[in-house]
Amino acid sequence: MTIVINMRKGPAERGLGVAARLIRNGKLVAFPTETVYGLGANALDGAAARRIFEAKGRPADNPLIAHIVEIEWLEELAREIPETAWKLAEKFWPGPLTIVLPARETVPRVTTGGLDTVAVRMPAHPIALGLIRMSGVPVAAPSANISGKPSPTDAEHVIDDFYGRIECIIDGGPTPVGVESTVIDLTGEKPLLLRPGGLPLEEIEKVVGKVEIHPAVRGEVVDVAKAPGMKYRHYAPSAKVIVVEGTEEAVGKKINELIEEFRRNGLKVGVMAMGEHEADAFFYLGKTSEEAARNLFRALRELDRTGVDVIIAQGVEEKGLGLAVMNRLRKAAGFKIVRA
Ligand code: AMP
Ligand code: MG
Repeated sequence: MTIVINMRKGPAERGLGVAARLIRNGKLVAFPTETVYGLGANALDGAAARRIFEAKGRPADNPLIAHIVEIEWLEELAREIPETAWKLAEKFWPGPLTIVLPARETVPRVTTGGLDTVAVRMPAHPIALGLIRMSGVPVAAPSANISGKPSPTDAEHVIDDFYGRIECIIDGGPTPVGVESTVIDLTGEKPLLLRPGGLPLEEIEKVVGKVEIHPAVRGEVVDVAKAPGMKYRHYAPSAKVIVVEGTEEAVGKKINELIEEFRRNGLKVGVMAMGEHEADAFFYLGKTSEEAARNLFRALRELDRTGVDVIIAQGVEEKGLGLAVMNRLRKAAGFKIVRA
């Protein structure tokens, strides 16, 4: 049985108490964060964390992020915490930044996907923070979607994927950022970007200087040992996705050409873009990369639901949140990119 708790008007003590008790008892609770909805369990309980993998159908070597509510909790999860980690945490927590550090032995290797490193973040959402504080334990929470599907940015997406399969879903309305956290590995000599996300790389570089970018971020196939999440199919709706990149004018034209071509071949076409297009289904992404990030996963889910065969997505400039948006779009497209 799944309890759905309505907190669209904000965190509610009693509901959080119920959900926190479930977490302490090794159960699964989906909850909103500022990035996307998370599927949470006690990060220090290997059996509870294992249930996250089972519910999502997530490969066991794709590690989870442990969510905390006080900066000091970092020391219970990680050892050898460098100065840069404290600096980043002080500046950007609570917020959409995940830090990868050497893991303490007390962190179950189920949670870390078998690695000796642990990923930690403090989310900036009152419901997430309230839940973690009342649970009294770090909460492991990957995105609350069936593995491979677009991440959930509203409770209805979580209900679609998990109703009847987990103990509790907290409905906190739409998530404000819309893409997952930025993941930075601090276990090497230089900070390494493993996943672009809700905190722009430019902001991080203002604090720690130049950050190296893992080649998998741009879709290059390499040794994936350091970026375990990267090798799996991600964010993919049932429809085929194509990303069109280039200057705004050229992209607009190219999208129209593709719509015509697909339709001539009897295919139904959906478009998600920053300009208007006539297609079988259309989702407006917004003007800025922030808006595109907020709308991205909803657009993929909703266009897919219309039953289109192909989704054409307009690429965005890889600045600010644009880097995260393009990373998700390229993965959704299985790296099928058309240059206008
Ligand atoms: P999700 O919560 O579904 O967004 O996935 C969490 C992602 O965080 C993983 O897919 C990895 O990319 C990253 N991650 C978590 N833990 C680690 C770790 N110990 N080392 C490297 N990357 C990690
Ligand atoms: Mg995910």
